[in-house]
Amino acid sequence: MNLYDYSTINKILTAHGFTFSKALGQNFIIDPSVCPEMVRNLNADEKTGVIEIGPGIGVLTKELCKTAGKVAAIELDKRLFPVLEETLGEFKNAEIIEGDVLRLDLNALIKEKFSGMTSIKVCANLPYYITSPVIMALLENRLAIDEIVVMVQKEAAERLCAEIGSRDSGAVTVAVNYYAQAEMLFEVPKECFYPAPKVDSAVMKLTLRKNPPIDIKDEKHFFAIVKAAFSQRRKTALNCLSGGLGISKSAVSAALKAAELDERARAESFSMEDFALLSEIL
Ligand code: SAM
Repeated sequence: MNLYDYSTINKILTAHGFTFSKALGQNFIIDPSVCPEMVRNLNADEKTGVIEIGPGIGVLTKELCKTAGKVAAIELDKRLFPVLEETLGEFKNAEIIEGDVLRLDLNALIKEKFSGMTSIKVCANLPYYITSPVIMALLENRLAIDEIVVMVQKEAAERLCAEIGSRDSGAVTVAVNYYAQAEMLFEVPKECFYPAPKVDSAVMKLTLRKNPPIDIKDEKHFFAIVKAAFSQRRKTALNCLSGGLGISKSAVSAALKAAELDERARAESFSMEDFALLSEIL
């Protein structure tokens, strides 16, 4: 069954009475080169368990099943289950899991579904309305996964993969870099989807770190400082930190001075070490 072909897709979807939901970010890949390229970058083999988020009609799931030992695909939209039964029928190593990825206990899922696997990875064309929460949940929960290859909106990929200290960086860049090494892999124009979204996409890879790049005593406080520092992009870190944390400008100014940081600078120019030092001082 060629899931890259419009008429095949339409035939299956019509037979099941399926209509696309914009709210659930349902834009399915129809370019035949994208999914194989994503899977090639995942380094999976028969001992790899893969969590897919949002299989849709199973176009990426199929490619994953050809390489990985087992694929557990989490789908929120129940209307797709009979479709997936038809499209993935031949793959005995695929299992569809009903639920919202942000509500499921992924630690329990890994234990239950992937016993005997030597490596667990995540691969997905993410529903864009939940890109950052999904990525942060995958990282913060310290799941037993080693790699994540995901497609997100191009702009989001640029921010997530930006160098800390560069103009494109933001709070999420610092957070992602704390847990993983982020790498932009390739761009995917909007024409590669059905229906076509308004913006282009990009595939990125996160390789999870065994240990954070710096020693942070209080992670919660560190991330609160980072978030506050980036809270208003056009303002100086001094104003953002003072407003965001509810402390006086003179206290923030003294902390910046102690960390040898320019109080007129914006947070995007700070390094991970600068944030670490600031969070210790403040
Ligand atoms: N993997 C397919 C592809 O690449 O063609 C579909 C990707 S489509 C961009 C996103 C998929 O995520 C849809 O199937 C949608 O129903 C599903 N989805 C949306 N929100 C979800 C959630 N909270 N948890 C799990 N799946 C979700």
